[in-house]
Amino acid sequence: MNYSLDSKRKVRKSDRPRHRGLRQKLIANLSAKGIADQRVLQAMLSIPRHFMIDEEFVDWAYRDIAFPIEADQTISMPYTVAMQSQLLEVQPGDKILEVGTGSGYQAAVLYVMGAKVYTIERQRDLFDKTSILLNEMGYHRIRTLYGDGYIGAQRFAPFDKIIVTAGTQIFPHRLFEQVKIGGIMVIPQGGRSGQEMMRYIKTSKTTYLSENHGSCAFVPMLSGTR
Ligand code: SAH
Repeated sequence: MNYSLDSKRKVRKSDRPRHRGLRQKLIANLSAKGIADQRVLQAMLSIPRHFMIDEEFVDWAYRDIAFPIEADQTISMPYTVAMQSQLLEVQPGDKILEVGTGSGYQAAVLYVMGAKVYTIERQRDLFDKTSILLNEMGYHRIRTLYGDGYIGAQRFAPFDKIIVTAGTQIFPHRLFEQVKIGGIMVIPQGGRSGQEMMRYIKTSKTTYLSENHGSCAFVPMLSGTR
């Protein structure tokens, strides 16, 4: 499989058997760490994650670590992406909003799993760059939005599921209103020193169940755009 990316830089990124081999190892590692949703693992096996980080660091793409991308942001570690995707219990056709597009990798995983994906990013440069990349990689129907995730995307609501990929201290009520009854929101909550991975299941317009799925570390969710 070959993709031609970024004609200005004249870079042609390719997905070679070596990369697939690295992905296979990564998937085995994630499965050993307790990721059991085969559809999550299959999606991660098929996505060339090395296209989503800087050229010089290709060899880091398939290690289970978080990695810096543009604008002081990070691409979440593969385990975290797998865990959040698993907690979403993605069904084909689910309408999902992601907050924090970043590199686009998490959005691609949900899309390959068959979801209708909307993803929102507050930083203009990342929004521009990642929108182009996702399109070039063939994930044409991922809808990228520029805006503040605390506000969400009311014009496309309601969503079956919402995934937040930045850490927040405040519960984003306005966002949770955009989840359908019976729907799920997965969100890291807590301060800058670390968060807990929370899953909320909306049981009625005003009630929800909450579950704590353990500690995690995300860059902060900030309000407004930039
Ligand atoms: N899901 C990403 C991880 C991104 S890191 C990936 O797969 O690579 C978190 C991202 O959330 C950053 O890009 C940051 O700019 C963005 N972010 C932080 N606060 C936000 C907000 N209020 N609305 C939208 N995006 C936000």
